Amino acid sequence: MIWYFYILCPYCENFIDGGVSFTSGLGPPTIICNKCNSAVSTDRSEWLEMKGDKKLKYVIYSLVVMLLAAFFGGLGADFLSSLWLMGPDEFLDKEIFTDQTALPGAVCGVLILLVLQVFRPLNSIKRQKRFGSHPVRLPFWNLSIALQFKLSFAYVLLLFSGWLVSYILYNF
Ligand SMILES: [Zn+2]
Repeated sequence: MIWYFYILCPYCENFIDGGVSFTSGLGPPTIICNKCNSAVSTDRSEWLEMKGDKKLKYVIYSLVVMLLAAFFGGLGADFLSSLWLMGPDEFLDKEIFTDQTALPGAVCGVLILLVLQVFRPLNSIKRQKRFGSHPVRLPFWNLSIALQFKLSFAYVLLLFSGWLVSYILYNF
């Protein structure tokens, strides 16, 4: 079983899409490469083109990522509040999920993913009205494809910033 996938532009090898193999399946089926302007196919479909089973998969995917968001939201909030209260050295001794920020953090995580996963089909319908079946050009920081990478990156950046602020506060 292959756990991840990635699509590079066949002409210039620019990164087009990628993530773990369990994806939402939603997105433009053809994308214009931002580097060489070629049209590249993805394995994705727009919302109105998705049959019932694909829509069901989207809903299941959304529920799974919301669960993950609850876990990582709680963990992240716990991490950041401990860094803030105890500093970058002592917080490592604390047990995780033992303070009061874990639950609000989990709720925040779920809400962010809920908003995203509701926004994406609406955005897909709008995009299809505008582009029809033509290839779509997306800016790099779009919320339509390779979202797993972008969210993981934003999460790590947030935790790292928290650690950096705590390090500065407690050491200088
Ligand atoms: Zn290209």
